[in-house]
Amino acid sequence: MSDTMLAVVLDAWGTSPVLREVPVPQPAAGGVLLRVTAAGMCHSDLHVADAPPGRLPFEPPFVLGHEVAGTVVEVGVEVDPAWIGRPVVVHGVWGCGECRRCRQGRENYCLERGPRIGNGLGHDGGLAEFMAVPSPRHLVPADGLDPVVAAPLTDAALTAFHALKPHVETLDDASRVLVVGAGGLGHFAVQLVAATAATVVVVDPKPEARELAATLGADVVHPGLDDVARSLHRAADRFDLVLDFVGATPTMLGSLELLALGGHVVVVGGAGGELTVGKNLGLPQGWSVSAPFWGPRDDLQAVVDLARAGSLHAHTETFALPDALTAYARLRAGDIRGRAVVVPGDPRD
Ligand SMILES: [Zn+2]
Ligand SMILES: [Zn+2]
Repeated sequence: MSDTMLAVVLDAWGTSPVLREVPVPQPAAGGVLLRVTAAGMCHSDLHVADAPPGRLPFEPPFVLGHEVAGTVVEVGVEVDPAWIGRPVVVHGVWGCGECRRCRQGRENYCLERGPRIGNGLGHDGGLAEFMAVPSPRHLVPADGLDPVVAAPLTDAALTAFHALKPHVETLDDASRVLVVGAGGLGHFAVQLVAATAATVVVVDPKPEARELAATLGADVVHPGLDDVARSLHRAADRFDLVLDFVGATPTMLGSLELLALGGHVVVVGGAGGELTVGKNLGLPQGWSVSAPFWGPRDDLQAVVDLARAGSLHAHTETFALPDALTAYARLRAGDIRGRAVVVPGDPRD
């Protein structure tokens, strides 16, 4: 095996990622080395690259890529060699495994994680030929799944699942759910909401995204929140739940204004929007808003199981690793349908 590999590196805040040769990582004593079979590209990678110094708690340089499927090719001395050869996906929030949140199965809110979140977010990620993972605790076996489908489950599907999960029990056949943005995350959310009894309304300015949402189970699609507002004729048309996969000020404010009494907005997208919170803003009584972060490992296991059962489909466009920067440009231009996934291909053994 060569000592170096091709990787997509963020060298400094506010710069474009670059494609260059870096050393192949070694597994730690308690960790594993993966040959990356597929790595999803996320809008949050662009938010990370664009961030000014000091906004995020971790520091460049690091290899991007927080949605990773791979095959275990090496293990550290403390790790069961039975892992070697297994296809896996990586739970990208590397919780400590011991604090009270981790013990509750809420590793995404680990209290001892430190400034770096996980692969591609402070630690070296999977937009590369190989990636080291510090513990098999962060792996979920992905046997039987196409890696191109499996990689986007780790963030795009997991985050959508975790955003919806606390509300699923409240949804019945009279409930109305609005999904704002039917891209990488939103297209999974449409499928998850469509599996409940609720009516699913989707808003996305892009015709291809609306078309995809309709094929995935959306009952109604609209190009803009204004169009949604104009379609509300009765109180019963208002929304019990809005999942905002954009998270810009206009989508967050627009979502609040469409709520039914006691309705809830989940802000998932990280576009930097802001809301003013107060009790006398003229909003429907009992409104609430939350901003969940990613999801725990158990929820990743759940979305892997759904995908294996054929209940969750990933719509992807694939790119070779040398074309990763082109893929980011297309993502930035809003020109990707579903998820962009990089397939590193054969390593140069
Ligand atoms: Zn992401
Ligand atoms: Zn922890």
